[in-house]
Amino acid sequence: MTTMQSAVLRGPDPITMEEVTLHGPEAGEVLVRVVACGVCHSDLHTINRARSGALPVPVILGHEVGGVVEAVGSGVTSVAEGDHVVVAFRPNCGICYFCVRGEPHLCEQPDYPERAATGSNPRLRDAQGQPVQQGIGVAGYSQYTVMPERGVVKVRKDAPLDRVCLVGCGVTTGVGAATRTAKVEPGSDVAVIGLGGVGLNVVQGARLAGARRIIGVDMVAGKAELGAKFGMTDFVNASEVDPVARVQELTNNRLDYAFEAIGLGKTVEQAFAMVRRGGTAVVVGVVGQEVTVPGLAFLGEKRLVGSFFGSAKLQYDLPTYVDMYMDGRLNLDDLVSRKRPMHQINEAFQDMEAGLVARSVMEPGA
Ligand SMILES: [Zn+2]
Ligand SMILES: [Zn+2]
Repeated sequence: MTTMQSAVLRGPDPITMEEVTLHGPEAGEVLVRVVACGVCHSDLHTINRARSGALPVPVILGHEVGGVVEAVGSGVTSVAEGDHVVVAFRPNCGICYFCVRGEPHLCEQPDYPERAATGSNPRLRDAQGQPVQQGIGVAGYSQYTVMPERGVVKVRKDAPLDRVCLVGCGVTTGVGAATRTAKVEPGSDVAVIGLGGVGLNVVQGARLAGARRIIGVDMVAGKAELGAKFGMTDFVNASEVDPVARVQELTNNRLDYAFEAIGLGKTVEQAFAMVRRGGTAVVVGVVGQEVTVPGLAFLGEKRLVGSFFGSAKLQYDLPTYVDMYMDGRLNLDDLVSRKRPMHQINEAFQDMEAGLVARSVMEPGA
């Protein structure tokens, strides 16, 4: 049992720091000291759902964690005390139909730690002894977290955790969407709608895949300069021009791939509209609405596909992305716009809503 400070959401009010107790590690589990935790759009999405009553509270969010193994439960073999790890918010079982056919990101038996939040022995309790939900499976806005062994991935110790924590969600989701889900071929023309933390990583995934032209689409003019640091070749300001017409004009109506990295039905429809015949629109954002596309476009063999967590093979991909950062081939430095101590979590979400940051990174030890 660990007593710690955590950022707890209890409803419409701002998130507050509270003392929370953390149970574990039990057999097969790992206790991780959180060094850094990125602030992801999915957290904001979850906060808004919790505040509207759609999800139970109290809850601790945060799922982009880099940390150090503090202790392991019996049977854990892949990590040991003192190892540096990145947390994977969606562990996989390794033996189900999807895992064995090489699609572990689609695992049908994800060992979600939320189960532990609602059982007879909740993993997290507040100072009054009441259960606290472990949001998005990690509850990383805390000093410590407990994950199943398959939810932690060992990484090299010379990699800075306040950068490589982003591999736990945004980097893997974006880079993998281009390289693993879509398998962008060298010489392709690519458009990315939404240049937030995930979209910028789709841009650099397309660059790594050898794309010729990488067109970023966003409503914020400042993203032109930022996107260029990740390999973007052209910028379309969707607040000034029709992005579909402009992208088609730039590519002579030969756009091979369009990635939607916002999570809106309208931008999914734009992505599908802007690709050429035989082209592929990839939905990376979390879309809560209906999507309507013209059915006759399928006669032109247009494809509309989803992408989840970069189609990642966690234990292979995450350390590889860390190596690529250390070799200077992945840009993580320009993703971290701001670092903050954990008690400034509300300000970090305000920055995100205002479009001021690619990523904020929270440091519970700061
Ligand atoms: Zn995320
Ligand atoms: Zn599985």
